[in-house]
Amino acid sequence: MKSSPSPSPALRREVLRFALGLVLAALLGLPWHLSLLFMLIAACLNWLRHIYALFKLHGMMRARIMHHEDYPALYLGAMWEEVLTLIIKSWKAEERARHRLENVIERARSSISALEEAVVLIDGRSNLEWWNPSAERILGLKLSDRNQPITNFLRDPRFVEYFRQSDYKEPLHLPSHIDQRRHLQYEITRFGNNDRLLICWDVTVLHNLEAMRKDFVANVSHELRTPLTVLAGYIEAMQDQAREMPGRWSRALGQMQAQTQRMSYIVNDLLTLARLETTRARVLPSVVDVPAMIHEMRQDALVYGADKQQTIDLDIDEQLLIHGVEEDLRSAFMNLITNAIKYSPDDGHIVLGWHKNARGIWFSVQDNGIGIDPRHHTRLTERFYRVDASRSKASGGTGLGLAIVKHVLLNHQGSLHLQSTPGEGSTFSALFPGDLARYRP
Ligand code: ADP
Repeated sequence: MKSSPSPSPALRREVLRFALGLVLAALLGLPWHLSLLFMLIAACLNWLRHIYALFKLHGMMRARIMHHEDYPALYLGAMWEEVLTLIIKSWKAEERARHRLENVIERARSSISALEEAVVLIDGRSNLEWWNPSAERILGLKLSDRNQPITNFLRDPRFVEYFRQSDYKEPLHLPSHIDQRRHLQYEITRFGNNDRLLICWDVTVLHNLEAMRKDFVANVSHELRTPLTVLAGYIEAMQDQAREMPGRWSRALGQMQAQTQRMSYIVNDLLTLARLETTRARVLPSVVDVPAMIHEMRQDALVYGADKQQTIDLDIDEQLLIHGVEEDLRSAFMNLITNAIKYSPDDGHIVLGWHKNARGIWFSVQDNGIGIDPRHHTRLTERFYRVDASRSKASGGTGLGLAIVKHVLLNHQGSLHLQSTPGEGSTFSALFPGDLARYRP
């Protein structure tokens, strides 16, 4: 147990002095039998002394003089002197802590000021509170903008919509409002009492590189199309004469045809990806009859996987339609279905699902195939990522199917989900926002 601090010598002296005063007063009053009155007068005098000392101390504290020697020469009594010393001590400790804190804040400020990125503090009322010099350069903020709402300054509706979100999962990319040739990336973090920290990078170089990459892939794919068509045409014509050729030439011709075919699949998939990437923000134009599409795709899939004798069952809500781009949805769903066929054994069992629940609209493809080890899950939608490259190539895969699926879903504000156990099978599910749902009239 914590023992209470023993009374200080000054306090003990004060009590002793008070008691002695009382005894002295009693003795003085004794000759007139007025000891009690004299004791009362002595107590009152003592009390007045303390009131006077308290009054003086209050004045000194209000002046907040930090050094004992700076106080006007005045003796308040040992106890009050001790109180004064204790107060000055705690003031000094507080002052030192404040200095330390100011140093830390100053260091933080100067390091933020030295950053290349624009850093802007926004208060709980969405007003601009503080920013570093880079913010003046990148965003064009001026001193007069202080305490103005940020949305008065950055008026682009895409920024306003982003700013009003409750949580900021993804950064926002926009052309700069000062110079349309520059591209900025905005990222917001909430902190404290609904305050926000906005960090903004100039990503023009990255943006231009990314645009160059997209253009390059689209142009190369486009340019490869014509020579490929010519090659495929000649190979087909030569195959008509294959019977007259020696055996090894006709085998080589068969190989040439298969590889040309594979190349044209890759080129087509690359062109599809390039188109999907450049049309991200477009509005979803029509209501798509997905149940009818699934019935058609099932027939196509049975033809595609005829050698494997697999069964394809349906578990679908026939009334549920979706707002979207029919051609893109068909391409994404067909990619998932052909994967299920490719990566499931002969006599495999595939189930196609289409329904809506509280989380949104689901299109799922369940198979009992080879399954995928969890360590590959996050990388599957990367271009040309394959768990087993030789198996993928042998089954005619381009390595681009899931990348296409991902982009189609992104364009529909959807996402791809995977549940899979190696050796037991996989379920790929596309999840779309519930508000895209429409019902058959
Ligand atoms: P690919 O053309 O190679 O099939 P995808 O992008 O469609 O390319 O798929 C990427 C990889 O994911 C495939 O190579 C395969 O390893 C794996 N994969 C996709 N779907 C399945 C599935 N249903 N079962 C097992 N593995 C799959």
